[in-house]
Amino acid sequence: MTDLNFDGRVAVITGAGRGLGREYALLLASRGAKVVVNDNGSSIVGDASDAGPAHDVVREIEAAGGEAVACTDSVATPEGGQAIIRTALDRYGRIDILIHNAGNVRYGALDEIPQEDFEAVLDVHLMGAFHVVRAAFPAMIAGGYGRIVLTSSIGGIYGNARCVNYGVSKAGMIGLSNVAAIEGAEKGIKSNIIIPAAVTRMAEGLDTSQYPPMDPGLVSPVVGWLAHEECSISGEMLISVAGRVAKAFVTETEGVYHPSWTIESVGAEMDAIRDTSKQWTFAPVPAGHREHLIKSFEMARRG
Ligand code: NAD
Repeated sequence: MTDLNFDGRVAVITGAGRGLGREYALLLASRGAKVVVNDNGSSIVGDASDAGPAHDVVREIEAAGGEAVACTDSVATPEGGQAIIRTALDRYGRIDILIHNAGNVRYGALDEIPQEDFEAVLDVHLMGAFHVVRAAFPAMIAGGYGRIVLTSSIGGIYGNARCVNYGVSKAGMIGLSNVAAIEGAEKGIKSNIIIPAAVTRMAEGLDTSQYPPMDPGLVSPVVGWLAHEECSISGEMLISVAGRVAKAFVTETEGVYHPSWTIESVGAEMDAIRDTSKQWTFAPVPAGHREHLIKSFEMARRG
């Protein structure tokens, strides 16, 4: 197998000063990418800031012979998102890869979480994703090329107690990636989701003694492939947890067709509606919506 490298490619990685993002930055830079290391050095809950982590990673990359620039703007505002992407364009003249990975955490049960804690997490994860994708998309379209990787979570696809802000953000990310995949399809842009797990500072306060080995280095090759020209998929979700790499996807049961329904008939048909023995899976592609409707019309005709 020949080595895949990133010579001539420019990557922007948010939250690259620590944890998973740092690992992605080191890997891509070691394979020839010029990297914008974005990190505002915030605390785990998203307050305070520190230019140290971003600059430390840049120094590490340069010491290993790579090329990188630090950007300490917060991804949580439209201006911050623009400044992060502008750093790539001003310094290197292009952007090929965008990995949105920055994150914070604020716990709180649904019946008591303060509005501020809800929004502070959405601002970094979900709004942050939109701010950088929105800013990068025109340059990627102009360049006819792009690889976008957004970071979801097991909490985004299945939910997690006391993390409504996180769950909403991480689920929203999937919608954003799908639209980027659809709108980027004809422009050489692919967008995918990584669902990672690693013991980083985000695990602070959790008992990880029973966890299997979960080094960020187990996740970075998966993100590296998604960020590479060789990446052949778009609008998909890859899970990378403790060395297991898998695809997550949305599927539908074949369903039940009747020309009219009552509340009672919905209840009576529930087992058949939920019968997973036959499944329909659709892809986020430009014609995906249409394909979904056509399949449903086919069923109506059969019914
Ligand atoms: P981490 O705390 O080690 O790193 C996150 C980095 O994001 C930090 O360096 C922080 O300073 C930076 N950051 C926070 N707010 C920022 C902002 N407004 N602008 C720019 N940078 C900002 O966490 P991690 O475990 O490496 O997590 C990385 C991503 O992976 C997050 O999106 C997280 O939700 C996701 N994730 C992690 C796990 C896991 O097991 N660690 C699981 C699922 C998803």
